[in-house]
Amino acid sequence: EAFQNLGVCSQLAEAAVSLGWKSPSAIQIQAVPHALQGSDVIGLAQTGSGKTAAFALPILQALLDKPHPLFACVLSPTRELAIQIAEQFEALGAGIGVKCAVVVGGVDMMAQAIALAKRPHIVVGTPGRLVDHLSNTKGFSLRTIKYLVLDEADRLLNMDFEQEIDQILKVIPKERRTFLFSATMTNKVAKLQRACLRNPVKVEV
Ligand code: AMP
Repeated sequence: EAFQNLGVCSQLAEAAVSLGWKSPSAIQIQAVPHALQGSDVIGLAQTGSGKTAAFALPILQALLDKPHPLFACVLSPTRELAIQIAEQFEALGAGIGVKCAVVVGGVDMMAQAIALAKRPHIVVGTPGRLVDHLSNTKGFSLRTIKYLVLDEADRLLNMDFEQEIDQILKVIPKERRTFLFSATMTNKVAKLQRACLRNPVKVEV
């Protein structure tokens, strides 16, 4: 199986191969074609499965198609995961000049506000800090995003980010694609799924 067989364009397929990835992982094989066809996707997969690229590749491909700033927002439960997600977007998107901003707690708001003012394509953040910027950083909004990702949704909810996620949902377009990834499907995740996703395709590895 090759990345191109999933519908990934040659530029991104080559980027994946240049990272040393010989073939797509199981979650990528299952999720990427649906995501590229425009479906919302629920992916049940653990860290280490290649889930980040399962949502990053379709988002980057859509970005290539119609590039504009503040194209996608990825919610992560932790600072460390947010950094890793941004690194993967940047690695896969190196050839296409993709710009990411990481917006997480414990770091100076002002430096992040400056990064946001540079109009990144992708914003990866923890929900609390993202809400802080939405209320306090002039000129920053998520009104133009085409994609929302809820990564490690079970952990997002275990960390009590429900309220912040609700606040974010209120200020992003209803017309968007949403990808939700979680290691486990709990009642809370199912509830979040109903609030955020439209006719999702569910894939599991
Ligand atoms: P993730 O599950 O997204 O945290 O990815 C775990 C690790 O697998 C990351 O370091 C990726 O660089 C790597 N990875 C992602 N997709 C592939 C692939 N198709 N083949 C080999 N490694 C991959």
